[in-house]
Amino acid sequence: MAAPILSVRDLHFYLFEMFDVEAMTARPRYAEHNRETFVAAMDTGQKIAERYFLPIRQKADVEQPTFDGKKVHMIPEIKPAIAAVIESGLSCPEADFEMGGMQLPAIVASAATSFLSAAGSTMMGYTALTNANCNLIQAHGTPEQIAKWVVPMREGRFAGTMAMTEPSAGSGLADLTTSATKTEDGRYLISGNKIFISGGDHDLNENIVHLVLARVKGAPKGIKGVSLFIVPKHKVDDNGELAGSNDVGLAGLFHKMGGRGQTSCAINFGEQGNCEGFLVGEENMGIRYMFHMMNEARIMVGTGAAITALTGYQYSLDYAKERRQGRLPSSKDPLSPPVRIIEHPDVRRMLLAQKAYAEGAYSLCLYGAQLADDLGTAVEETERNSAKTLLDFLTPIIKSWPSEYGPRANSMAIQVLGGHGYINEHPVEMFYRDNRLNAIHEGTYGVQSLDLLARKVPADNMAGYKLCISRIREDIKAASKYPELEVPAAELTAAVQLLSETTNAVLAGMQTANIDLALANSVKYLDLFGNVVVAWMWLKQSMTACDGLAREPHEDDRNFYLGKLQAMKYFYAYELPEIQVWKKILCDLEDAFYVAQEEWF
Ligand SMILES: Cc1cc2nc3c(=O)[nH]c(=O)nc-3n(C[C@H](O)[C@H](O)[C@H](O)COP(=O)(O)OP(=O)(O)OC[C@H]3O[C@@H](n4cnc5c(N)ncnc54)[C@H](O)[C@@H]3O)c2cc1C
Repeated sequence: MAAPILSVRDLHFYLFEMFDVEAMTARPRYAEHNRETFVAAMDTGQKIAERYFLPIRQKADVEQPTFDGKKVHMIPEIKPAIAAVIESGLSCPEADFEMGGMQLPAIVASAATSFLSAAGSTMMGYTALTNANCNLIQAHGTPEQIAKWVVPMREGRFAGTMAMTEPSAGSGLADLTTSATKTEDGRYLISGNKIFISGGDHDLNENIVHLVLARVKGAPKGIKGVSLFIVPKHKVDDNGELAGSNDVGLAGLFHKMGGRGQTSCAINFGEQGNCEGFLVGEENMGIRYMFHMMNEARIMVGTGAAITALTGYQYSLDYAKERRQGRLPSSKDPLSPPVRIIEHPDVRRMLLAQKAYAEGAYSLCLYGAQLADDLGTAVEETERNSAKTLLDFLTPIIKSWPSEYGPRANSMAIQVLGGHGYINEHPVEMFYRDNRLNAIHEGTYGVQSLDLLARKVPADNMAGYKLCISRIREDIKAASKYPELEVPAAELTAAVQLLSETTNAVLAGMQTANIDLALANSVKYLDLFGNVVVAWMWLKQSMTACDGLAREPHEDDRNFYLGKLQAMKYFYAYELPEIQVWKKILCDLEDAFYVAQEEWF
């Protein structure tokens, strides 16, 4: 039997035991839902994944899209797969019923679409980006813009992108040069070149709606002079019909190490001087609006990284249970049959590490999704506000920790398969290649670490930081009723203390030392904070597992819960202690690479 894409039991554990999503059906927005509708959405995701995506996963990886100078070509099977997702409603699972969505809580939507990302890999990027594009226009656009652009995107007629990056403006968006010229009749003409635009051209849909960051002529320099425009590939008339080219030209496709199911495009806007853009909101406020999509995309990136790690773990686990090789050191009989490789402790090391990374990362992403639900629909205003504060604060960690540890997990999946992991007969090498992007796009690991340390920690008198610490302490207190969690609870208490001391030292360094030096080790701060947060998620999972064990479940469930406790034990013994090294580096303002001269390299 083939390896499962994901463990359904594990997804049910998060939704129905750990995060108690059924309680959300008491909120008016989700009143029409219940456990059955949540499970049905997950079943639908799984069925579409198995029927449409799994069979073409390898083909989409090997046969990359091509451009013949006029048109993009891709394997024909992608179109019906995307159409099936749109037809099911899973292209916009959180959207309102009347907009064609399923009005699911974000946390359930994440689980329902997880099968699609695991099996469809980056092909799911087309609908996910379209969904995030719609959400931005719905939040900041006019009713006319919503009717003209969001409705056809929700229906699946149009697709959407985010077009920010330029050849000379990647991490540094403040330097972007794409321009918007206001005409005498109040229209805007867009001119410039964007690169790496995911889903930037294809014929899966009738039209493509780009959300383009551009600078209105005469705007202030820097990020405060950036505006946001809706720029369709084809013009659209007042009846919603296509009305000719909008002077948006595909310059070429990028060929990538992974993520090959989705086109990555260099796009020229306005080469003929005839590319019209429609301003979203006010001029010069573009980056603020774009953050609506970027923040959503950051959670999406972290979630994709975690899911790719989970599916790699499932695959290598299945392989390790079948493959026979070698004997244990204690075996003296050369005639005894080789053991299954899962019997080698070192293979179990790699499996348990993958489990700890992947399930730790995914539980964090689901925690973030539930915060997104709470900030929109929690009954009490104070609860909505604190969910917003905490989600804003945690976003760089939710984006980055899975993106860093997900590929590590996938690398171990390759190692579990040995040489067979390195060849493309098995998908684990593709998982690694696909996952490697996640620490790069939507803000690199380094850029996220600066966001955390220089912006998110000090913001609002450290409100997000303090709230995060107090939530961790609340859970440590809750863990005190479980005698079997006494040790990890004490270790997490010590880790939080270490984090506080490190934070105080680094913030003091930012006041007194050279700011460039004080921030030079920001990546180690992100590593440290990330490990503490994931240790917290493992404590939460462990409390739920203890509750499960207390119910004296049948053997399969008992093993499932014991597996959770063992992964927590691994994380606390092997991963969490690394924070001590990182604390020293940060508190000492270690300057090894800060002072390294260019000539020394
Ligand atoms: C497959 C793919 C899909 C993408 N999809 C999209 C998309 O849909 N839309 C879109 O707009 N963009 C997209 N991007 C672009 C992506 O977001 C950028 O590649 C990313 O933000 C990094 O920019 P860059 O490539 O110019 O690298 P650079 O900004 O040149 O960075 C190079 C290195 O320098 C470091 N660095 C840069 N600035 C700093 C700093 N201030 N402090 C510390 N270190 C720094 C970075 O961390 C990195 O290690 C995509 C990219 C890829 C590869």
